Amino acid sequence: MKMPNGHEIIQMFERFSPKSYAMDGDKVGLQIGRLNKPCGRVMIALDVLESVVDEAIEENIDLIIAHHPMIYRPLGSIQTEQTAGRVIEKLIKHDIAVYAAHTNLDVARGGVNDLLASALGLIDTEILVPTVTEELRKLAVFVPIDHAEAVRAALGEAGAGFIGKYSECSFSQAGTGRFQPEEGADPFIGHSGQLQAVQEEKIETIYPAQLEKKVLGAMFKAHPYEEVAYDIYSLENKGESLGLGRIGLLPEEMTLEQFAEQAKKSLESGGVRVVGDMTRIVRKVAVLGGDGNKYWQTALRKGADVYVTGDFYYHTAHDADAEGLAVVDPGHNVEKVMKKGVAAILHEQASKQKWDVAFVASAVETDPFQFL
Ligand SMILES: [Zn+2]
Repeated sequence: MKMPNGHEIIQMFERFSPKSYAMDGDKVGLQIGRLNKPCGRVMIALDVLESVVDEAIEENIDLIIAHHPMIYRPLGSIQTEQTAGRVIEKLIKHDIAVYAAHTNLDVARGGVNDLLASALGLIDTEILVPTVTEELRKLAVFVPIDHAEAVRAALGEAGAGFIGKYSECSFSQAGTGRFQPEEGADPFIGHSGQLQAVQEEKIETIYPAQLEKKVLGAMFKAHPYEEVAYDIYSLENKGESLGLGRIGLLPEEMTLEQFAEQAKKSLESGGVRVVGDMTRIVRKVAVLGGDGNKYWQTALRKGADVYVTGDFYYHTAHDADAEGLAVVDPGHNVEKVMKKGVAAILHEQASKQKWDVAFVASAVETDPFQFL
């Protein structure tokens, strides 16, 4: 078992939640410390408060992956007699790095919004607010016929060949590859100075640009040639749309009151604020983690009966109510669902790589609000 370094962990994390998914101007990425060190213990946190840093020190953590950026506005100073400076000092003294994944983690498949939708039990979920469309590329690689199967399998394993709900999509064509090894070459087939003609297969497949490193790495590993002949094409095809929030259906309709009770329980919130007639029937639910004030009209337009989001304002609640959209506000802190959710995803990925690393969900409660 190999202990990964911080860069390897973040590379793995960014395949699931790339920085390119973040909204413009958001602060994502490494914020404190360094990644060029072995990381055997990684903590997943919602907020990096002093109590969370103390927990990380106690737990011998090397790296914290947090949803809310610790540094959002530029710092004027770092004064270690004040809380913000003291927290940074503690992190640096204990060599704990902090990496932030904010709106990119909201958008990611399996990220905050998918975790919230699944906690609410929604089915047939779609994106509420599309923000990015995946860039697609095409790969064509020339492989001697007896290695074609292995290269195809490696490409599929690395995530190439997904089209909608189909995986391992590729196209092959047989042909003749010609090459002449020059002096100093160490050819898999043939000898220096002799022109070779080999029966090869041209394999074509498609992949999201963010997976390029992984896909090409897998191709090089599975391909027997010293120099692999391949082409990469940029495509006009639009990839899958990704975005903020989700909208889906409850398996069965229920009253707004029943739904609010259920949401409070499943999201482990201390209390929910409800806008709308408690006896009305709801089935279609929109959910958006964090502050979703900006998107209530999108939820309404897409036919939601009820919108679940945090930090809802008084006047916005009046507007939503007047338009017939019910709102359940369980608080911003329900995004804590990401702690266990992300830890589980990373644990699964790291196990596949046989890495010696533990992912710990922070157990510290960071909701500043209490309910009476
Ligand atoms: Zn948030």
